[in-house]
Amino acid sequence: MARLLEPEEIDVNIVYDFKEFPDKNSGRCDKCGNTLFKSSVKNGIFMRECRQCGMKKSI
Ligand SMILES: [Zn+2]
Repeated sequence: MARLLEPEEIDVNIVYDFKEFPDKNSGRCDKCGNTLFKSSVKNGIFMRECRQCGMKKSI
């Protein structure tokens, strides 16, 4: 079931699944609010990483 993450519970070493943890504010990092991301594809999975705090989501 989808739920929103609180900034203080986010671990930057974990890759969160976007379907389980949608953006609180669309296109913004849940942890720091930054809007700049680094994108990569790993094993066919699209990853979005915050350029500021390093939070990761698979999309
Ligand atoms: Zn961030």
